[in-house]
Amino acid sequence: MNMNQHTIKQAYHFEGKGLHTGTYAHMTLLPAPANSGILFRRTDLPGQPMVEALAEFVTNTARSTTLSFEGAEVVTVEHILSALMGLGVDNALIELDNREVPILDGSARLYCEAILKDGLEDQGVARRFINIPYGLEVRDQRSGSWVRIEPADAPSADVTVDFNSPVLGIQETHWDLQTDYATEIAVCRTFCFYREIEALIKNNLIKGGDLDNALVVTDEGYLGNPTLHFPDECGRHKLLDLLGDIRLAGGYLNARISAYKSGHTINTKAVKALRALLK
Ligand SMILES: [Zn+2]
Repeated sequence: MNMNQHTIKQAYHFEGKGLHTGTYAHMTLLPAPANSGILFRRTDLPGQPMVEALAEFVTNTARSTTLSFEGAEVVTVEHILSALMGLGVDNALIELDNREVPILDGSARLYCEAILKDGLEDQGVARRFINIPYGLEVRDQRSGSWVRIEPADAPSADVTVDFNSPVLGIQETHWDLQTDYATEIAVCRTFCFYREIEALIKNNLIKGGDLDNALVVTDEGYLGNPTLHFPDECGRHKLLDLLGDIRLAGGYLNARISAYKSGHTINTKAVKALRALLK
């Protein structure tokens, strides 16, 4: 792929319930002009308010990433943002008629299948890679997790999963512009640990969750014995999530991103710090 900006060829529709709120939404991905970035529009609200996919609009990171701006709230933005980032889509408008992006099968597979069927639209304008003056690191002392962003010649990301789980063990995954995102990363599903489920239900965080859209990791294996796409599907999903959160930088970073035991809170903290540093 050349290094021009790209958008999608036509409109694509998706619908379904959100993982966290359980609300049912219709979503339409639409092409957008060069240099417009990625925007969400709430078509169900008066005035159809929009929120841009930028870290300064992150308002909640409990199990998923929520953006809000002047009444336009959108929950669980990370999988669609990851798909657009992974496929090389610079500009798109995402219309939604409810609060939360549909979880679909818990991965970014359906987005990739729809978009790649037609290929991308070359917009004839050079992509503006974001250069960073120096590196930064964000750490969470309690969990031991960290995210590091260092200047580099091209975008890349590495994630290490190490959740003290005998089933997952330690998983290390990598992405760069040469990675075949659609087959290597997009198909990997959301996961949670069986021991967390009770607390998640009590806190109303998985109203739309079931075994069709999430892998549930027990101490012995996976609940319901699903067929995994990769032995390290969970680690690859963490990378999928990281790419979605990193897109909140506003574009492709000439940076090497490394993350250890990452999640939406620390991912978006790092990108917020980066956005502040670029201002
Ligand atoms: Zn996810």
